[in-house]
Amino acid sequence: MGVDLGGTWTRVVLSDEKGNFIEKMSERVDKSSSEAISKQIIRLIRFLCKKHVLDVTALRGVGIAATGPLIQKEGVLIKPTNLPFEYVSLTKPITEELAIPACLINDCAGAALGENIFGAAIGLDNYVYITIGTGIGGGAIVNGTLLLGKDGNGHEVGHFTIDYKGRLTCGCGKRGHWEAYCSGRNIPNFVRMRFKEIDEKTVKQSSLFKKVKGDLSKLRAADLFVAAKEGDRLSLQLVNEIGILNAIGFANVVNAYDPSLITVGGTVTLKNKKMILGPVKKYVEDYAVNRVPKIMATPLGEDAGIYGAIAAVLKYIP
Ligand SMILES: [Zn+2]
Repeated sequence: MGVDLGGTWTRVVLSDEKGNFIEKMSERVDKSSSEAISKQIIRLIRFLCKKHVLDVTALRGVGIAATGPLIQKEGVLIKPTNLPFEYVSLTKPITEELAIPACLINDCAGAALGENIFGAAIGLDNYVYITIGTGIGGGAIVNGTLLLGKDGNGHEVGHFTIDYKGRLTCGCGKRGHWEAYCSGRNIPNFVRMRFKEIDEKTVKQSSLFKKVKGDLSKLRAADLFVAAKEGDRLSLQLVNEIGILNAIGFANVVNAYDPSLITVGGTVTLKNKKMILGPVKKYVEDYAVNRVPKIMATPLGEDAGIYGAIAAVLKYIP
């Protein structure tokens, strides 16, 4: 059983060991209490087993991929960035209640593992997965080893500093981080900042400005990409600027891990593949010292996290 625990959705999938999904279901995360999260996961697992006439104890285990920070060995989230709790215990209540093993993995590390077992990185020893969605994160396999760090929170690439002037503040509270400029949540901040710098006439003529009827507080990342696809010149310019910032982030990844492949997921990427990956491929050479590898959208699509949860079961639960 694989669980992808996000800030909005809990997605649970019953899968075989080859990564064939038998059934997938999702519910909005129950945020009524910290304990409600594991209770919801347990209920969904029981429901799927019952529906497929499967004894819960027949499962090899439960893998949970979640946004950190986390302590992997203890199976807990510590002040997770996208849930309003100080502490969320996951593996212990699931193991106690269902009497089967459970394991936890950072969602991006999990996606890297999933790509390595089920996706485009099969057989590769040096490989990085990057997500550009609500936030930006990464997972890396180097010399055949999944990098995790002391608690399982290694390579928080979204918090690489890409702007020493720190014009925008990140959700983590620090300034100048990649995620503060290029993630789905923060692209509107980048657009608003640039609108203040660009002359008023150009801004008011853009279809992006007209799309939100001049109310920039309503601006979403999707508005920028739609306007750019419609040919709005200012939007195309801003998409290119975001592309340069993304290229700096990718170059830092190439310089740090020297991968032979980078796959990219996350909703911002998957909905705007050409607009995100085009400029990255164009500009990454300007900043990378290492040989730039192939960069492509993940074939696992929006299921990268859930494949990661299944991969974690295969890796951690014998
Ligand atoms: Zn940050």
